[in-house]
Amino acid sequence: MKLPVDIQKIIHHFKKLPGIGSKSAERFAFHLLQWKSNELSQFSDQLKNLQNIKNCPSCRCLIDSDKCFFCKNPTRDPSVLCVISTPKDVFAIEQTNSYKGLYYVFAQTLSPIEDKYPDPNEINNLRQLILNSKTKEVLLALDATLSGDATSLFLKEQLKDLEIKISRLAFGVPIGSSLEFIDEGTLTQALIGRQSF
Ligand SMILES: [Zn+2]
Repeated sequence: MKLPVDIQKIIHHFKKLPGIGSKSAERFAFHLLQWKSNELSQFSDQLKNLQNIKNCPSCRCLIDSDKCFFCKNPTRDPSVLCVISTPKDVFAIEQTNSYKGLYYVFAQTLSPIEDKYPDPNEINNLRQLILNSKTKEVLLALDATLSGDATSLFLKEQLKDLEIKISRLAFGVPIGSSLEFIDEGTLTQALIGRQSF
């Protein structure tokens, strides 16, 4: 016996989520059948509301109104611009409470092996934003992966004529971990980036 079509369709949607296979998707779908109708309505309304989330035309951070939380916010430091690869990285950095500058989401990655290069328009947008603002430092906070490293080096090259400081996140020993459990690459970066103490 086949599953009712509406359940099949829900399973199909859940399977699109990262890390969710057929079994988990089925479990979620059957779980939803136990929800009260008002809970299902609220859930479906909330999903629809996601369409209202947009990217700020200037910094590309997520916005749910015309006003961006960061751009032109007088409490933020306009002299530092943190470049991240996805809008969700903003929330990770904001949770630290250690950064008060602005952001720019550069969702383009460079991968010479796959012949992938950033869109020149995006590089131009970033350059214009720096030129038209009070940016004195660009902090590259891209992923510590081959592609993230390649993109950071590429951006450094693309921005070097702008007479601004270019920095990147330090790599080091995770807090609370023993040296014996740290991978070679992280430990090498921690040794290279050691600081006076
Ligand atoms: Zn913005």
